[in-house]
Amino acid sequence: MTGQQPPVEIDTSKPHTARMYDWYLGGKDNYPVDEAMGRQMLALDPRVPVMARVNRAFMQRATRWLAGQGIRQFLDIGTGIPTEPNLHQVAQEIAPDARVVYCDNDPIVLAHAGALLRGTDEGVTEYIQADVREPEAILEGARKILDFDQPVALSLIALLHFVSDEDGAHELVGRLLAELPSGSHLVISHATSDFTPEESKAATEKLKAAGVTLALRSREEFTRFFDGLEPVEPGVQVPHLWHPELGEPVPGQDDGVIPGYGAVGRKA
Ligand code: SAH
Repeated sequence: MTGQQPPVEIDTSKPHTARMYDWYLGGKDNYPVDEAMGRQMLALDPRVPVMARVNRAFMQRATRWLAGQGIRQFLDIGTGIPTEPNLHQVAQEIAPDARVVYCDNDPIVLAHAGALLRGTDEGVTEYIQADVREPEAILEGARKILDFDQPVALSLIALLHFVSDEDGAHELVGRLLAELPSGSHLVISHATSDFTPEESKAATEKLKAAGVTLALRSREEFTRFFDGLEPVEPGVQVPHLWHPELGEPVPGQDDGVIPGYGAVGRKA
């Protein structure tokens, strides 16, 4: 719980992904160092702000779809700085009793977590400050709020491209899923270098120089996160083409391919 955490220390000496993403979305919770790196990313591909919105819209449609399937429990890791509508607002609009556990490792998200905790009276929202590379800590926290005998939607939205293979990206997803019962779902969106190899390489290098890991993955590497799960239609897609009927299109999203993938899988 936020109230029990020590005061938050924000490192403004280097860019942070949560704050850069907030800048792309036009938010106020970012610093000059984030904006400077954000502008460098824009110089490489001016669609980055559209991508950020397309990604948010994917999260919303996937959450709507899951709530429509009867899912009432959500574990969202790599939540980001609150941006309305947040996942719990989308889920609780359909299912007011939905229980949502958020998790991020950036202190700025913790600092703003209050906005993530204002949900319906019937439902529950909670925030855990933890690193996805330590899945046991997340599972331990989530178990206190969610019933692991009932299906859970695990969402990793625009998170895993910040987790390298060396840090065990695929293994940690497997570890999290292993604890969830049949009927649970995995939702992932992820940036790829498949469509824009040159720009992607330049972006990866610039971020690396600033201390940020960017692990762009191919369609095949992305698909591997869903090994052992039943695919949900339409399978692996560029995010804006995943069930577009469940939301409004993002202005500009058709201007070329958005270099990312989105998909949902179901645990049998
Ligand atoms: N899911 C949100 C935010 C994506 S930005 C959305 O799609 O709109 C990526 C988020 O992942 C940031 O908030 C960043 O702080 C978080 N993140 C990056 N690495 C992480 C890690 N190892 N563990 C937990 N969160 C991480």
